[in-house]
Amino acid sequence: MAEPTQIAETISLTTLTPHTTELVLRPIEHPLSFKPGQWISLQLPVGDHPPLNRAYSLAEPPSATGHLTLVFDHVPGGKGSGYLSSLKPGDRIPLSGPYGHFVLPDSEPQHLLLIGRYSGLVPLRCMLRSLAEQGLLPSSTLIAQAPTTAEQLYHEEFMALAATHSNFQYLPFVSDGPDSHAETVDVIKHIAGNGRRVTPMIAGVKAFARPLRALLMELGFDRREVKLETYD
Ligand SMILES: Cc1cc2nc3c(=O)[nH]c(=O)nc-3n(C[C@H](O)[C@H](O)[C@H](O)COP(=O)(O)OP(=O)(O)OC[C@H]3O[C@@H](n4cnc5c(N)ncnc54)[C@H](O)[C@@H]3O)c2cc1C
Repeated sequence: MAEPTQIAETISLTTLTPHTTELVLRPIEHPLSFKPGQWISLQLPVGDHPPLNRAYSLAEPPSATGHLTLVFDHVPGGKGSGYLSSLKPGDRIPLSGPYGHFVLPDSEPQHLLLIGRYSGLVPLRCMLRSLAEQGLLPSSTLIAQAPTTAEQLYHEEFMALAATHSNFQYLPFVSDGPDSHAETVDVIKHIAGNGRRVTPMIAGVKAFARPLRALLMELGFDRREVKLETYD
């Protein structure tokens, strides 16, 4: 992690769902250039041995304001997310980045299969927004799993994207645990098991992401063909 640390100022906190918050930061020293899907590291003044380093994916593509938009879910008893919830506009946090290789392929895929659970949707949303803004959205499916209907992150936005882009399919599912996703499995088998060249990208906690990568490998994908971003 060679990227230098700099201070960022808190611009705003906005409630997105009962248990998720959007946090907008402004790097004070220099703007960050990043690719959709990448993440930054926040150094938080909490925990037994501060700073506590916590990674957060960028939720919005780079913008002229230089603001960085993050979204975090409120982990019960979580030191990092608990601290972020307590921030006020003007508060300062050291950050570094961008990091990560969970980014869109260089060449246009025949079909982009994005699969995310809860806050795992954050980097996928960033990619979709970037592609849609540039008029480059390829044939694509987003499988979005949420713990409850109230926690369906970006639900209206994804519905609107599907309504305006006939080549984009939005498939939301609700299941309380990360590993109870029979419908998700069926849909993946349908999309990725028919010989079409599919680029799969999965984000979320390991209990969600890893079994789905294993499923795709059973369907004939090479391990390296399945891009994964795990949060824990
Ligand atoms: C590359 C990367 C990108 C990430 N991007 C995001 C993001 O965009 N939004 C986000 O909310 N988090 C993201 N995370 C996770 C984040 O870094 C923290 O781990 C998370 O906020 C929990 O930290 P905590 O100190 O509050 O909880 P901890 O005390 O560290 O508790 C973690 C436990 O909470 C559970 N948990 C519930 N939700 C999460 C979650 N989202 N991530 C990890 N564990 C969770 C897990 O079971 C885990 O064992 C990312 C992690 C990585 C590695």
